[in-house]
Amino acid sequence: MYYETLKYYLDLFDNGEREFAYRAESIPEHAEWKKALRSRLREITGLDKCVPCAPKHEYGGEEEINGFRAEKHTLRTEPGVVMPFFLLRQEKRGEAACPVLIVPHGHGGGKRETLYYQCGLIREALEDGFIVACPDERGSGERREFPQQGDGEAQRRSNSHRELAQLGVCFGRTVIGGAVWDLMRLADWLLNLKEASGFLACAGMSGGGQQTLWFAALDDRVRAAITSGYFYGVRDALIEMPQNCACNYIPGFFETADMGELGALIAPRPFFVESGRRDPLAGKRGLDNVKEQLATAEKAYRLFGAKIVHSVHDGGHEWRGDGMRAFLAEARHDGA
Ligand SMILES: [Zn+2]
Repeated sequence: MYYETLKYYLDLFDNGEREFAYRAESIPEHAEWKKALRSRLREITGLDKCVPCAPKHEYGGEEEINGFRAEKHTLRTEPGVVMPFFLLRQEKRGEAACPVLIVPHGHGGGKRETLYYQCGLIREALEDGFIVACPDERGSGERREFPQQGDGEAQRRSNSHRELAQLGVCFGRTVIGGAVWDLMRLADWLLNLKEASGFLACAGMSGGGQQTLWFAALDDRVRAAITSGYFYGVRDALIEMPQNCACNYIPGFFETADMGELGALIAPRPFFVESGRRDPLAGKRGLDNVKEQLATAEKAYRLFGAKIVHSVHDGGHEWRGDGMRAFLAEARHDGA
């Protein structure tokens, strides 16, 4: 016999309401809602507490990884916080106005793994003239804390999200708040490159899809967003499965909004959601738990006469990439 508490939390969710549940019926109502929800999300993720600093940048040479010529760079994003990232670009780019693509990684590695897991999209983006940046999220890759550091396979694939989540909650911060802040600072730097056009896209799988979703929801400079394996209702995916990584849990979020509202914050910017029909992380109801959240976000897109692209494959929790290249090309064309 176990006297569990999980059901209590499910009841809290079922009997409660999300304060910013999407109800806008017009574009002005949407604008007002967006401003208020963004402000709340900045507060509960601790984004507002991040400390601006002079963005000290350093170049650290280049490496050949999985056929890519990856330039290593570091950028200081807060006093005492340094983000390493790989930058990939065509050698003969001249002064052309290049679009920019950020590819944040998921769990199971850092920026180096991105060059394997998302290599198809990255290769296509480079062919299409993009500058591509693959950063390490706080707690992953070269940003692991001491309990996870080391070169063994298991250590390289681990992360320090639990450690950073525990410390962060005591300072009013979260892992995703720090990740979004760093992506914002990376965007500042990338959009300032002399060869960069103003077009910025972000694409990620799983934890990278999570970073993409939150970054695009909180920063309008993201002109197109691709999230794979991370767009589903929190009840089934995060409350019923509390064993998920600590970085998914934000103080007060389940009383504030759901994933659908994060999608609605991206409207009407081009938004691509990839889902696996058999992805266990979507929860026991699978795709239904994705479609309900899409329906919420689509209410916002409809107000603007725009649509979300939903690409469903028959696999599980995996990145396929079908249709992403065309999506980015169209987004660039429409945004030009
Ligand atoms: Zn995590």
